Amino acid sequence: MHIKELVLDDFKSFGRKTRIPFYDDFTTISGPNGSGKSNIIDAVLFALGLARTSGIRAEKLTDLIYNPGHDDDESGFSGEREAEVEVVLDNADRTLERSQVVSAAGTDKVGDVDEISIKRRVKQTDEDTYYSYYYVNGRSVNLSDIRDLLSQAGVTPEGYNVVMQGDVTEIITKTPLRRREIIDEIAGVAAFDAKKEDAFEE
Ligand code: ATP
Ligand code: MG
Repeated sequence: MHIKELVLDDFKSFGRKTRIPFYDDFTTISGPNGSGKSNIIDAVLFALGLARTSGIRAEKLTDLIYNPGHDDDESGFSGEREAEVEVVLDNADRTLERSQVVSAAGTDKVGDVDEISIKRRVKQTDEDTYYSYYYVNGRSVNLSDIRDLLSQAGVTPEGYNVVMQGDVTEIITKTPLRRREIIDEIAGVAAFDAKKEDAFEE
């Protein structure tokens, strides 16, 4: 499974609907400083619910909505605004074949298709009111549903699916024990250690 396409709409510096294709092996993004490369990664983390706002370089969720006055620090509220990011996953290998999501409309099997769409929208309705919505294949769901779905593909907020700037240096300067814990996390052993500990406590 891999990301096939990213669709940004009014997210950070992307004031126009922008489609970014990803290839199944390797994709690089290049551009001058400040052109929005990191914003693209922030968009993935935002849509998949994988980071806190600080992790996507924003103080609050509404800072992620395109603001033409962003660089002049103009953030006064001027009517309803919203940002939307869609991550289209290529599921041709049926990584998520057995996955389902439970929503108000019932239980949906989501994984027996070639493409899975995960979408998040943040909508600001007034100075300090905003809403955040998640969708899987167009169906409104909760963050926990997204978490469940992604964890079946080995993608978790604690995981190292995304290596951020500075992460490598941080890992190098860690103690051998902590480094081992990170490797366990990546190998998927850490989850079993946690379960074992829980069982001993009981
Ligand atoms: P570098 O090479 O320096 O890492 P980059 O390509 O990663 O640069 P980003 O950090 O992705 O650049 O983009 C920074 C730009 O995004 C800044 O110019 C900033 O003004 C703009 N930006 C961030 N949030 C918003 C927003 N809400 N509305 C408009 N522009 C925004
Ligand atoms: Mg950057």
